[in-house]
Amino acid sequence: MNAEETVRLDRKHLWHPFTPNAAWLDPSFEPVTIVAGEGSWLIAADGKRYLDGNSSIWTNLHGHRHPKLDEAIRDQIGKIAHSSFLGLTHEPAARLAEDLLAYVGPNGNSSSLTRVFFSDDGSTAMEAGLKMIIQSFAQTGQGQRTEFISPEGAYHGDTVGAMSLGKSHRFHRHYQPLLFPSRRVMTPFCYRCRFNRARPEKADARTYRQCGFECAAEAEETIGKAGDRLAAWVLEPRIQGAAGMIMHPEGYAQRTCSAAQKVGARVMLDEVLTAFGRTGPALSSHAEAVSADVVALAKGLSGGYLPLAATLATEEIFRAFDGPPENTFFHGHSYTANALGCAVARASLRLLQDPEETRRRQTLQQNLRELSQGFWKHPHVGDVRQEGTLLAVEIVAERSSRKPYPTDQRRGARICQVAKEFGLLTRPIGDVLILMPPYSTSPDELEQMVAALRKALAKEFSS
Ligand code: PMP
Repeated sequence: MNAEETVRLDRKHLWHPFTPNAAWLDPSFEPVTIVAGEGSWLIAADGKRYLDGNSSIWTNLHGHRHPKLDEAIRDQIGKIAHSSFLGLTHEPAARLAEDLLAYVGPNGNSSSLTRVFFSDDGSTAMEAGLKMIIQSFAQTGQGQRTEFISPEGAYHGDTVGAMSLGKSHRFHRHYQPLLFPSRRVMTPFCYRCRFNRARPEKADARTYRQCGFECAAEAEETIGKAGDRLAAWVLEPRIQGAAGMIMHPEGYAQRTCSAAQKVGARVMLDEVLTAFGRTGPALSSHAEAVSADVVALAKGLSGGYLPLAATLATEEIFRAFDGPPENTFFHGHSYTANALGCAVARASLRLLQDPEETRRRQTLQQNLRELSQGFWKHPHVGDVRQEGTLLAVEIVAERSSRKPYPTDQRRGARICQVAKEFGLLTRPIGDVLILMPPYSTSPDELEQMVAALRKALAKEFSS
């Protein structure tokens, strides 16, 4: 089937996530039809090659068609693709659970995580986590702990529970009648913080902020007041992804998670975006030695190959489900612990721990840091922030006042549209441009990615 036919059928029958109908159905818009992938490249039906600048919506770690990952799937499919996980078990899941806990355990402070509950996506990992927390309290005499607190702008997925923990007006306003109430605290966003008295500089706003760390103090106070009604403090540690790659000031995760532990509440971390070395360590929370009771993982878990997610929990939480059958965790999905997903995830974890791969990732991170400084040459760049191999570049109408562009101008989307012409595929969040290369990206490919984005920026503002 040629690309035109694919697009015709698509426009007739498909419904894409987070995609305005008018934009997708506009006949002058030509969607890219992907037919193959190779390392950090996506290959279109017309033969054009694009660099995968956001790792296929933050999922891919080692590049496309990685021989080791392909092999893991081939080996497993020769045995079985999937069987139920209700009352049955299998080696890929058992081994992956052991490997995963070892991977997240020793480097940080998360060694108390002993249990792995598999599901399919980031949303389901979060959904399972919040239900575990509520039920475990209910079954251990703390049924009054029903409140959740998370920062403004939090995004944990699109299922009802995950949306209830989320704080995005734009995404969630129509679904309010479905959502349970959860409290919000201010976003720890140094660049746009009302407490930051520093004048804008050509640097990551976290490094020159002048404030009294009011964001952490507000969260501590709100958590303290909730006291024994608080079920969990829920946090995307160090980076709030969908809110606009908001990178938190050092120490925020530590302070707020300690506050939650002080009142006996759970710490629930959403590491769906940040885990697996994306920000450096195995878990982003390791950078602040935060210990969590529940951790949600997805996206990179399978190396970006298959929908697989995991909710990690402590033994204490797991043991709260002991006792009579009515204490069972009544939650599960048909594809829980999919064997192909587990097999490829193990192969991905092996790569993540390979010393040569680790060195390559560190080089990528360093090169990205150096190349990112070039963005400051553009007068409409207001903030450049980076964690690990994740770079965010915020576009503003005026640098000196941090004034944003009106949202209906869709500057970020327009720049990324132009970047396609220069061989780069990436997706902005509002006016925040994102580069999140797969770890397979060579120094030369990284230069091409950065150059494509800079050229797109220049072109957008030249007209
Ligand atoms: N949590 C975070 C931090 C995310 O970034 C996302 C997805 N962008 C989710 C949860 C939801 O994951 P999924 O799309 O796999 O359901």
